[in-house]
Amino acid sequence: MTDCLFCKMVAGDIKPDIVFEDDHILAFSDINPQAPVHFLVIPKRHITTLNDLDDVQIGGRILQVAVDLAKQQGIAEAGYRTVFNCNNNGGQAVYHLHLHLLGGRPMAWPPG
Ligand code: 5GP
Ligand code: ZN
Repeated sequence: MTDCLFCKMVAGDIKPDIVFEDDHILAFSDINPQAPVHFLVIPKRHITTLNDLDDVQIGGRILQVAVDLAKQQGIAEAGYRTVFNCNNNGGQAVYHLHLHLLGGRPMAWPPG
């Protein structure tokens, strides 16, 4: 999608701080981190929202990359949060599916 920020990252037109990449998935540091560890894990293929997910392989890969990154970052045992924000009420700002991985501090619940 030409007008999508995260598609531009996949294409290499915008260069985020990449922490993981393979044929299907890109993960990078959030530009406005809400925790000491805050990564975004995205499918390379444009999927607009979680409502548009139609591929269990991609969904599973996104989750597996988040778990692997949590372990690599040393936050897995202490714990962390993963979040998909979906549409307006979910607080979605960028309309290319992404999983937030947040950790390195205790997370309040409910998030507000
Ligand atoms: P959402 O609210 O859509 O779930 O989250 C979008 C996330 O994308 C936000 O946490 C925001 O900080 C992050 N973000 C927005 N623009 C950029 C950018 O240009 N680069 C990076 N690395 N993250 C971004
Ligand atoms: Zn996109």
